Amino acid sequence: MKKITIVLSVAFLFFIGSVITLHAWGFWGHHKINRLAVFTLPDPLKSFYEKHIDFITDHAVDPDLRRNLSKNEGVRHYIDAEIYGNAPFDSLPKLWKDASKKYKADTLMKYGINPWYIDSLMTQLTQAFRDYKIEIALSISADLGHYIGDAHVPLHTSINYDGQLTGQKGIHGLWESRIPEIMGDKYNLYAGKASYIADPLAESWKILRESYSEKDSVLSLQCKMEDTFPIDKKYIMITKNDTVKIQIVSERYARAYNSLLNGMVERKMRKAIVEVGSFWYTAWVNAGKPTINEFDRTILAPETTKKLSDEESRWLSGK
Ligand SMILES: [Zn+2]
Repeated sequence: MKKITIVLSVAFLFFIGSVITLHAWGFWGHHKINRLAVFTLPDPLKSFYEKHIDFITDHAVDPDLRRNLSKNEGVRHYIDAEIYGNAPFDSLPKLWKDASKKYKADTLMKYGINPWYIDSLMTQLTQAFRDYKIEIALSISADLGHYIGDAHVPLHTSINYDGQLTGQKGIHGLWESRIPEIMGDKYNLYAGKASYIADPLAESWKILRESYSEKDSVLSLQCKMEDTFPIDKKYIMITKNDTVKIQIVSERYARAYNSLLNGMVERKMRKAIVEVGSFWYTAWVNAGKPTINEFDRTILAPETTKKLSDEESRWLSGK
């Protein structure tokens, strides 16, 4: 009986792990990042994105949903930096052609291509703006927001992405899903307005370098907490869809970990929002600031415009 319970627990943890790696930042986080990034934009680009804010929000998680459909999808969401030595962001060349010469394309493909993929989407988005291809521009924008969001998650830069190498399996989902889902409504996510990025590829590397510098805190602070936190209070059972019982990390545990992290999750999310807006804005500027609104026949109902303006005001005041 005991053996069966252990097997089931392991199977359960494996299942939870699979779910976690599938949905980085959680649905809530990705939706929020893409949605609020719209308000960082200057007009007239903002009014274009506002007309499609629900599309940009809803499709923020498409890249995670595609992971099951394409074997090439997964590697776009991360980079396992440790593979490239003790100072990976110094030793790994920034350009794909140089990096693939030094480490072989197969190696790069195996350990994650997040910064280069963001860069290729920037080229595609710029071209879509140039060609006034509205639907393509919107779907690339939604994807781009997702991958930039992922780059802000410290564990997306590490081969120990779910604490599986240090006995901390589940930490990925705890950091990027459970904490924002519990505390996100109280976050102040205002981080200023979008600005032009002179070198988007360099900016992606900068974001990843910063995330990488935070992954040791993410891991070590949880270890520190485990020393004192009562283990029987770590998980709670919940019933899903009225039938399935699942075990999740308790709110008490998530809150305790969050307070040790000292606002890191909120800070990273805020940063991701303004970066996503800045990347979209940069693609539009690089396309020559096309008058894209003139080609877009979408018209928002006055009550929708009013709701968006209220939402923007709440974001501006940090609510
Ligand atoms: Zn992802």
